Amino acid sequence: VTVETPGQEHGRADLADWRRESLGGGLESDEFFVRLLRAHLGEELEELRPHLRRVAELSSGRLAGLVDESSRDEHLPALRCHDPLGRPTEEVVFHPAYHEAGLIFWGSGVLAELAEPGHEVRSGAIAYLLDRHGEGGHACPVACTAGAIKLIQRLGSDEQRQRYLPSLLTRDYDSRLHAAQFVTEVQGGSDVGANACTAEEEPGRPGWFRISGEKWFCSVADAGLFVVSARPRGAPAGTPGLGLFLVPRLLDGRPNGFRLRRLKRKLGTRSMATGEIDFDGALGEAIGAPGQGFRNLVGIVLDTSRVHNALAACGIMRGAFLAARSFALYRRAFGRPIIGYPAVQELLARMRMRTMASLAATFRVLTMSDRLARSESDSTLAGARRIAVMLNKYATSMASTASARDGIEVLGGNGTIEDFSPLPRLYRDAIVVESWEGTHNTLCAQVIRDFAGRGLHRPMLAALADEIAALRHPALVSAAARARAMHADLEARLRRALDAGDEAATVAMRTLADRACRLTEWVALATQREWELAHGEDTDTGTALELYGLAVLDNADAQDTPALAELQRRLALAP
Ligand SMILES: Cc1cc2nc3c(=O)[nH]c(=O)nc-3n(C[C@H](O)[C@H](O)[C@H](O)COP(=O)(O)OP(=O)(O)OC[C@H]3O[C@@H](n4cnc5c(N)ncnc54)[C@H](O)[C@@H]3O)c2cc1C
Repeated sequence: VTVETPGQEHGRADLADWRRESLGGGLESDEFFVRLLRAHLGEELEELRPHLRRVAELSSGRLAGLVDESSRDEHLPALRCHDPLGRPTEEVVFHPAYHEAGLIFWGSGVLAELAEPGHEVRSGAIAYLLDRHGEGGHACPVACTAGAIKLIQRLGSDEQRQRYLPSLLTRDYDSRLHAAQFVTEVQGGSDVGANACTAEEEPGRPGWFRISGEKWFCSVADAGLFVVSARPRGAPAGTPGLGLFLVPRLLDGRPNGFRLRRLKRKLGTRSMATGEIDFDGALGEAIGAPGQGFRNLVGIVLDTSRVHNALAACGIMRGAFLAARSFALYRRAFGRPIIGYPAVQELLARMRMRTMASLAATFRVLTMSDRLARSESDSTLAGARRIAVMLNKYATSMASTASARDGIEVLGGNGTIEDFSPLPRLYRDAIVVESWEGTHNTLCAQVIRDFAGRGLHRPMLAALADEIAALRHPALVSAAARARAMHADLEARLRRALDAGDEAATVAMRTLADRACRLTEWVALATQREWELAHGEDTDTGTALELYGLAVLDNADAQDTPALAELQRRLALAP
């Protein structure tokens, strides 16, 4: 029998207390998120609130354990290629905890909300609450299914809508149709125009094609419906020749002309199955006009999953913050809780500030989507939103890795231990979240191309200028002035870069994107602060805004700027 010293007993008891609190409470404990929803949804939040409460409780309770369980090495998905009689099945087998988690994800209505146009904020709010565990095995399937829903809602024939939408939109996990999107090939994911998969017209069946070739990264390898990019015979090279196809997994109960070669062993998102697939004459149906495949892929499918990516990034940041802050409250070092140390407060405050800025910028995008759904012909809004989606995916994904890393630092050595906290998993998922749905360079390059070729910097700048003009509260005079100065500087830099030609613009693309992201986050946080002040709310958004100004915009140093430590203390200790 091991006898513990009083010190050991206290240390272990502190950790037990921490574990009870580390998952965070219900909806109302995420005060900033609730205020943000009030600002974006108004009265509608009251109708949605009981449901969000239930989702938040399930997420911090049952779902947390299920995600942990299904992510254990010994419970990862496996391939079962044949049935007992040797017939091909190409099946992916999951641990029961994975399916139980799926019941929660689908039952939350995150996809069902999309049946109604203009419900992006509602659906996004649910996704964020579920994504506090990272990808969780189902965030990617949800994102891919949402992309297929949008694709079919916008471009599908009546027949395609009737055939697919009811089961894509269902809340019922067991009868759901879930989708995947297969674009990347071994020769490169960023250069989609190099896609070599082919599509041969099926004789006698107009609109149907036989798809052949290899897809190299196939997440949601268990999906019932694949959205696949391929090149019809005779179509031009590069992106203009690509088509998009809906390929059902099974035809007459048998695998539809594909072989799941193997599942990839991944750094993160491990409980979700990502495979390599060989297609050999899979029967698929074209969706959208021929030659518009790439345009629809970027404009609808990736556009949707990039927003989900940002929600997952926000969820990861919140999950990491909850684990780290509660640990800091309970963990003692040198006789006091470590949350009392300014250097720990700095980490926690920056984690919280990043989450708030990312949430504000992400819900700005979701509200733009809802406004567009209600007033389709607003091309300025559509242009501003398109750029915001890409820049926000870039900024939030990097912020999620930074926060997961900071969380691990707060937990010290324990932070690196797989079954001690979710942080190692969140960190691994965050790095995947950075690279899929467009790497940083791919997104920045696309943004610059959109500026140079389609003039989309104008709607981006116009939308930000309108939001800055709406910052009228006396407490936000200097924040608004700062936003105006950043806006003018960005406008001048963009003009210079675009005037200097493609090469010069490409060299500057990352720094231009960084400036645009900082301005957007600043404006989004200030806009939220404006709403709170107008509603008489005294909250920590003002502290976060001030800290963002000093820590991010000024890159201030604690020695030269004593105000920094006090802001960090306030934000770290705020409830
Ligand atoms: C876990 C996981 C799951 C995935 N699931 C799917 C899936 O389901 N479906 C799917 O289609 N794809 C999927 N992907 C693939 C993902 O979308 C690609 O990895 C990504 O698009 C990048 O492509 P790549 O890996 O081939 O990198 P590359 O395109 O080879 O890029 C390598 C590096 O070069 C940089 N680069 C490329 N072009 C330029 C340029 N013009 N200027 C500057 N830098 C450049 C990139 O930014 C990157 O840093 C998945 C990836 C991961 C990690």
